[in-house]
Formats: sequence, C-alpha cells, structure tokens
Amino acid sequence: MRDGHNRQINYLRLSLTDRCNFRCVYCVPPQGKEWLEHSEILTYEEMLRLIKVFNKAGITKIRLTGGEPLVRKGVVEFVAAIKALGVIEDISMTTNGSLLPPLANRLKTAGLNRVNISLDTINSANFTQITTCGRLDDTLSGIKSALKAGLTPVKLNVVLTEALTESDLTYFTELVYHQPISVRFIEYMPIGNQPVQRGMDVAMVKKLLGLAGREMLIPASVIQGDGPAKYYRFPKYQGSFGFITPISEHFCEACNRLRLTADGHLRPCLLSNTEVDIKTPLRNGASDNDLTELFFTAIREKPEGHSLCRASGYPAFERSMSQIGG
Ligand code: SAM
Ligand code: SF4
Repeated sequence: MRDGHNRQINYLRLSLTDRCNFRCVYCVPPQGKEWLEHSEILTYEEMLRLIKVFNKAGITKIRLTGGEPLVRKGVVEFVAAIKALGVIEDISMTTNGSLLPPLANRLKTAGLNRVNISLDTINSANFTQITTCGRLDDTLSGIKSALKAGLTPVKLNVVLTEALTESDLTYFTELVYHQPISVRFIEYMPIGNQPVQRGMDVAMVKKLLGLAGREMLIPASVIQGDGPAKYYRFPKYQGSFGFITPISEHFCEACNRLRLTADGHLRPCLLSNTEVDIKTPLRNGASDNDLTELFFTAIREKPEGHSLCRASGYPAFERSMSQIGG
C-alpha cells in the first residue's frame, strides 16, 4: 500500500500500553493525567484482529512499544500469537530493558526477532535523573540478556540531553568495538511534559566520536531494520553508530510507518495530532472491510512532512510520547 506521497506503508508501531515503570522527563504526561483505564486499552484479541486486517492491506512488520511494553501482562503469549498468524515477517520491540532479564529467552522462543533498548547515559545518577525511577543496572542487565537470548541486532536508543557526557561516548565506543550493537543517537523532540535541557547536538557527538566529515561508512541497508537512522561503522568494530535526526535533517520522504495507540487510534504521523479512532467502530461491530477502510483513511491522512523543523515553531502536542507509543 502506497500513500499519496508514494511511500510504501508496511510497518506498524503498536503500543501495548501507555503505562511505564520509568518516568523519563521527556516522555510521560504531567503527574495526575495518567493512566488510561484498562477498559480503554485494546485487548490482545482486538489487536490481533486489527493486525490480520492491516496485514491484508500491506503491513508486514510490527514493532511493539508503549509506554513500556513489558509491563503489560501476557506479552510473551501475545508475541507468540502474532507469530502464529504466519504473515508478519519481522516482530521487534522497543523497551527500557529493565524487565527483560527474566523474559528475554521466552520472548525469543515466542517469535520476537530483536529489541531496541533505551539507554541515555551510563552515569547512574544521570540515568536516575532522566528516568526518575529507573535503575541503570536493571537496563544494563536487560541489554546483556537480550544479547544472550539472540534478540539481535540489539540497538540502543540514546536521546540527546544534558545527561550524555563525554565519558558516555567513551563507553559507547568501547561497547560498539566489542559487541554487535548499534548505538543510535536521537534528537530530542519537544513532545514531553517538561522542557529538557539539551546537551550535545549531533554535530558535537559526531566530532567526539571521530565521525565528523566522514561519509557514512556503511550503507543504512546493511543494518537490519526499517528505521530512519543513518549508520556509521569503523573497520574492525563489531557494532555501529547511528543518528536519528527528526529535527535537523528529517526523513519524512522515507517514512513507511503507521502507529496504533494503546487506546485504539491510528496515528499517521508521530509529529501531527491527527488520529483516526478505530477502537469505537471495532467495538461497535465493524466488519473487516470497514476496518480496512479506516486503515486507508489513516494512510491518506499521512502528511508529506512534519513541522518540527519549520521556523514557525512547534505545534502543541495533545499527547505525550508514552501515550502515543514512541
Ligand atoms: N519504554 C520503551 C523505551 O523507553 O524504549 C518504549 C517506549 S519509548 C516512548 C520509545 C522511544 O522513544 C525511546 O527510545 C525513548 O527514548 C524515545 N523518546 C521518548 N520521548 C522522546 C522525546 N521527547 N524525544 C525523542 N525521543 C523520545
Ligand atoms: Fe517509559 Fe520509555 Fe517513556 Fe522512558 S521513554 S518513560 S521508559 S515509555
């Protein structure tokens, strides 16, 4: 299925829950505006029905996200149920990693291919400052368990904030030298509940990593996945560095994705408030054809590009990242 701007839409980011065991400062809604009631969240059965319908319309890859997908009970069985459909080529997950150690092997057996794990810094005080209630050691254990279980390639998501220091870059360089891990630096997007102190920008990180002025060392297609990151790999390094730059160099022309929020809204673009409610029709007896039509409506609503880089300033976001599904 191609949208009105000739982009092939084959990738669904599916939010299992808006809840999370961390409260990253750039991600969660203000205190008191949380969480969705359980009855508002799509059941696994409802999600599976939508996946079947969307697959017939072109979706072949799914990333489970949230909130924190691993806080939702039954996630291993849900992965197995998606796998059992036999039509989804790639099932992946974005997680903070903290709950992964006891689940990694079971998720792999169930059919999860790979994980992206968020790790903004390896300074434990800075980590707790960013995540509010996260413990660095839990996330580091999650990364180890993912590698051991073969949930590979493992990619780390590092949002650029003041928490990131030069010592972190030294650590990431060592890590990427020894392990087949992609460390991806992501520009902070202003959709969190409080302004985040920006730290190093992409140019500074590239300079400190010794990447400034160099061409991409490996083509993006070499790294498995469908994301917008541009990757670099040094000779003899097992892993790579990636940069995701929605602000300074947006990648809208290559966007192949659609989001489904935990409360059943199709969101054509992360950075636009437009959503299509599919839960209400689903619960009111919509046929598969009706649901397919709503899927097409969402794809028609996909804007050509987002506005974060426009001089006119940022739009007011109605939902935080954890409510949308990052
Ligand atoms: N809880 C999981 C995690 O942290 O990986 C999955 C959900 S989280 C919303 C998905 C990704 O979005 C994470 O890598 C997180 O760092 C990133 N993220 C959240 N808010 C962001 C923001 N305002 N700007 C840039 N990235 C953000
Ligand atoms: Fe939770 Fe992930 Fe958002 Fe952090 S980024 S609050 S871990 S959903």
